[in-house]
Amino acid sequence: MEISEIVAAYIRVLALAVLVVYGYAWVIRTISQRLMRGVAAGLLFGLGGIFSMNDPIVMRPGLIYDARSILLVLSPLYAGPIGTIIAAAMMGAHRLVLGGVGATGGAVSVILVALSGYASTLIPRHRIGIGWGRSLLLGLATVSSFIVLVFLPPEIARDLFLSAAAPVMLANILGVLLLADLLEREKQRVRLVRVLENEASVDPLTKLPNRRVFQRAADRCVEEANNRGRPFSIVMLDVDHFKKINDTWGHNVGDTVLSRVADIIRRTVRKTDVAARYGGEEIIILLPETEEGDASIVAEKIRHAIESEDLIVDVTAVKVTVSIGVAAVDSSGTTIRAAIEAADRALYRAKTTGRNRVELATAA
Ligand code: GH3
Ligand code: MG
Ligand code: MG
Repeated sequence: MEISEIVAAYIRVLALAVLVVYGYAWVIRTISQRLMRGVAAGLLFGLGGIFSMNDPIVMRPGLIYDARSILLVLSPLYAGPIGTIIAAAMMGAHRLVLGGVGATGGAVSVILVALSGYASTLIPRHRIGIGWGRSLLLGLATVSSFIVLVFLPPEIARDLFLSAAAPVMLANILGVLLLADLLEREKQRVRLVRVLENEASVDPLTKLPNRRVFQRAADRCVEEANNRGRPFSIVMLDVDHFKKINDTWGHNVGDTVLSRVADIIRRTVRKTDVAARYGGEEIIILLPETEEGDASIVAEKIRHAIESEDLIVDVTAVKVTVSIGVAAVDSSGTTIRAAIEAADRALYRAKTTGRNRVELATAA
């Protein structure tokens, strides 16, 4: 094979690796469940390996070089153990199907390279970091693919080792360095976007969603209410005499009390409900597909749970109560703003009629 042909074929190997990176970026952006993400990444790496094997650099009849070792050695890091098993099974089976003098050795080398990649992930991160050093080590780990030589007739193995070992090694190391760099960039980018999204939507003190998230969820509920006539409710909650808590115990205790109140609310509402920090010590809850009567039951549950709990802050047991207003939105064209105002008025009534109580908008 001419050197220019080898270079052209190697560039095709790298082009395929780039496509795998695009696929990987899509997988980690869209699949949040860890196991499913590993399975999808494994399928992707496996498919990449198979495509590459179908368009290989033919070193000898029956002996091929392709991107499989590059993809496989990185699978444990980016597709996890299950993904690696999937990728290795796909590539190993395909190598057997392709046949030729290197088939058995090729399939065995697939397993060994995957294991070598996995072994590299066991090295503590503080030892090798996540940069070029780690990539170089993974590139070197692809040397385990030379197990294929053991399965060849000795004279072919010796000849191949002398003529192809160095270029194959070099191609693998270079491939792993490039692919790992691209995959790592994608991984960090997706992680950064997640962190920023989280920071933009979650209140740092209570860890509840902020008003913006509430507004978006409320808009969706309004649409459902208008289109399908599904009602939803809004619960507005304000901590009673919170100024006194701040004045008596200090602002820090006040902060902790607020985050404990948020914890109680989080564990009392359904997963589909959206409890958000609305203002200082005001929390608003959106209850989709819930009528006022049911919403008032939830509100009462929250009120009771907060009243009955001693909020231990440091060594101080603080008792707090909350006042709650409840309003429902049905398909009659009520706007979200009107519903919030109605809940707010009900809350005000709860305050003026003694606090630590739930008031309904319709009871006015
Ligand atoms: P009421 O029963 O009428 O609601 O009495 P209140 O003392 O709670 O009155 P109000 O709702 O007007 O006061 C809210 C107080 O909450 C004022 C403000 O200093 C305090 N606050 C608001 N946000 C925070 C916060 O993040 N941390 C702390 N510690 N205090 C806060
Ligand atoms: Mg208050
Ligand atoms: Mg208030």
